[in-house]
Amino acid sequence: MSDSNRVVVYKGPGEVAVETMDYPKLEVPAEVADHFGITKKAPHAVILKLVTTNICGSDQHMVRGRTTAPIGQTLGHEITGEVVELGEDVLFVKKGDICSVPFNIACGRCRMCNEGKTGICLNVNPARAGAAYGYVDMGGWVGGQADYVMIPYADFNLLKFPDRDQALEKILDLTMLSDIFPTGYHGAYTAGVTTGSTVYVAGAGPVGLAAAFSAQLLGASVVLVGDMNGDRLKQAESFGCVGIDLTTDGSLAEKIDQVVGEPEVDAAVDAVGFEARGHGEGAAEAPATVLNDAMTVARAGAGVGIPGLYVTGDPGAVDDAAKQGTLGVRLGLGWAKSHSLHTGQCPVKQYNRKLMNLILSDRADIAKAVNAKTIGLDQAPDGYAQFDSGAAQKFVIDPHGMTG
Ligand code: NAD
Ligand code: ZN
Ligand code: ZN
Repeated sequence: MSDSNRVVVYKGPGEVAVETMDYPKLEVPAEVADHFGITKKAPHAVILKLVTTNICGSDQHMVRGRTTAPIGQTLGHEITGEVVELGEDVLFVKKGDICSVPFNIACGRCRMCNEGKTGICLNVNPARAGAAYGYVDMGGWVGGQADYVMIPYADFNLLKFPDRDQALEKILDLTMLSDIFPTGYHGAYTAGVTTGSTVYVAGAGPVGLAAAFSAQLLGASVVLVGDMNGDRLKQAESFGCVGIDLTTDGSLAEKIDQVVGEPEVDAAVDAVGFEARGHGEGAAEAPATVLNDAMTVARAGAGVGIPGLYVTGDPGAVDDAAKQGTLGVRLGLGWAKSHSLHTGQCPVKQYNRKLMNLILSDRADIAKAVNAKTIGLDQAPDGYAQFDSGAAQKFVIDPHGMTG
């Protein structure tokens, strides 16, 4: 056991650094303990030694200065690790187990957890329902882009991989279970994608690619992926999607018509969120673009999955309304077409075990689909910079050189 811990920290817009902090304790954050009237001592927790921890578009919202994250905010919610220390109430996870951690922190004891809605657990965040590691307004839990991290309610939150050697062999696929694979799947699933569906996915970042890949798993007949980033569109095409280049002339509906034979699709997924830009090369930010696109091209009665993140406060927004999260969404259109919109954090636990089984039975090359790239913890600042500049890669941090 070490007595210190390297952790990736937000240092101000466009800047992250790897800093040395205390080795984690089996304790919940003081703000959580105080608010819920529980002890700080967390006998239900474990300490994990990170095997892998990924950089996410959700981190970028903070790092771009587009949230109220304070300087010093620790980062990292995509966590896979080996159990190295256990609280005395952890019964079914053992030292040496390699586990995936859902990015949602959930108590396993509240009404929402009992209903499987682990993205909106009621007992882990004083500010609102739902929590996450290393995230603003998410309960003060220390982030996992680190050497070590504390995981509370470990029996409930951890997904143990059945075999250590097999897990290390498939670790680049399995590392996607902490967030983007379930999140992409959730986007496609809640949009109603099923056998034969035609699907439009907005955004060819890692979440969009995971949604497109999941739509194929669910049996889509054609998956169109729209973005303005040519490299990312090529990545989507590498596994059989049709890239829709939004920098070229013509409406999205026309582009869909050229491929599908009609200007509408059966299901649409927003894998962009509130930092969406308008169409065209170098277009300005227009936060409601993707929601309005989705309602325009989804047929009547369709589902729209919205894993893309929307916030209640955005200091860098284009106008005062958007600073409060109020966007120019044309809801009348979606209403007239009887759309079902599905928002919110992905409840990772609803999907991660089955998606793990698909990976372990060689049925889901998700790492290849999102173009996973492994880096060391000290290279995290460079990984953030490259990801921010639009690299068609999903950066996987390997702090201890365990992935070989
Ligand atoms: P990312 O920033 O890498 O990708 C976003 C992509 O959208 C970029 O390639 C960008 O060029 C593209 N884009 C911008 N405007 C567009 C438009 N009008 N139409 C089509 N594409 C457009 O991010 P990511 O890691 O792929 O994550 C995507 C979103 O999902 C983020 O908002 C992230 O916070 C969110 N997310 C949500 C959950 C959840 O549980 N709901 C989990 C993980 C990530
Ligand atoms: Zn994430
Ligand atoms: Zn709960």
